[in-house]
Amino acid sequence: MSDREHGCDVVISFDLDAEEVWIGEDPANAERPGTLSQGTYGPKVAVPLLLDLLRRLELPATFFVPGRVAERHPHRVEQILAAGHELGHHGWTHTSPLRLTPAQEEDELVRGLDMLTSLGGEVVGYRSPAWDFSPVTLDLLTRHGFRYSSNLMDDIRPYRHATHNIVELPVHWTLDDAPHFWFSLASWDRTIRTSAEVRALWEEEYAGCSCSRCTRRSSAAQVACGCSSRSCAGCATSPGHASRPHATSPRRSRSPLMRAVPPLRRRVSTHRRVSAGSAWCARAG
Ligand SMILES: [Zn+2]
Repeated sequence: MSDREHGCDVVISFDLDAEEVWIGEDPANAERPGTLSQGTYGPKVAVPLLLDLLRRLELPATFFVPGRVAERHPHRVEQILAAGHELGHHGWTHTSPLRLTPAQEEDELVRGLDMLTSLGGEVVGYRSPAWDFSPVTLDLLTRHGFRYSSNLMDDIRPYRHATHNIVELPVHWTLDDAPHFWFSLASWDRTIRTSAEVRALWEEEYAGCSCSRCTRRSSAAQVACGCSSRSCAGCATSPGHASRPHATSPRRSRSPLMRAVPPLRRRVSTHRRVSAGSAWCARAG
C-alpha cells in the first residue's frame, strides 16, 4: 500500500506459521498438543481478528503461508484470499533451506506452490522459513516463476537482484514481532516485551525511512530535534545537513499506517509467528 502522506510505499505482511514452526523446530512437537496449541492460535483466533482489523482500516496485506498449514487450515487461507489479500509462499514445511539439499528445497517449493494455488492463490512472492537462502534459492525462484523475495536484510528499500530477475523486499528482525514476543519452554531467558516497546521500535524504523527534514534515507533510530519535529540523526546533530525545511510534526500528521499500529497488539497479533514484520518503506521521488 502507499502512504502518500509520508511518501512511502509500505508492505504489511504476516507469516502464518501455525503448528508448522513448532514441528519444524522439533518433529517431536507433533506429539505435544500443548506446544502445538501455540501455533493453532494463529489460524484459530488471530487470523480472523487480523482480517477484521485490516477490513476496518481498509489495509491490504500479504500472508506468507507454509503449504502444510494451508493443507491443515484451507478455510482460513480461503478467507484470506476472499478478503482480497495476497498469498505468499513460506515453504511446504517450515524448514530452513539451509537444512535441505537442493532437490529437497525444490520439492518444498513445488509442493507449497501446488497447495497454495490449489486454493486459488496467485503466488509470486517467497519468504523463506527463517528468512534464509541457500546457494540455489534464487535459481529455484526464477525457475518456478516467482517475481519477488522478502528475505534479505541488506537494504531498507526494494531492489532487483543483480543476477536474477527477482525483486527483493528487504526485512529485518526489528520489524518482526516474533523476536520481541516469541517464547518457548526451551528458552526461558527470552524476555517478552510490552506492546508499547515494540510499537516504539516500529515507529522509529518507519520514521527513519522518511526523515521530515532531508532527503537522506536512514534506518538509524530517530531523535527528536529542538523544534519538536523529528529528523534523522544527521539532521539533528548537524543542521547544515538538512536540505529542505521542517515538515509538519509527525504527531499531527500520523499516517493511516501509524494509526493502524496501535491495534496490532498482543491480543490481536498471533505472536506465534504471524509476523507483522517485513514492513519496508521507500521514499518516493
Ligand atoms: Zn515462518
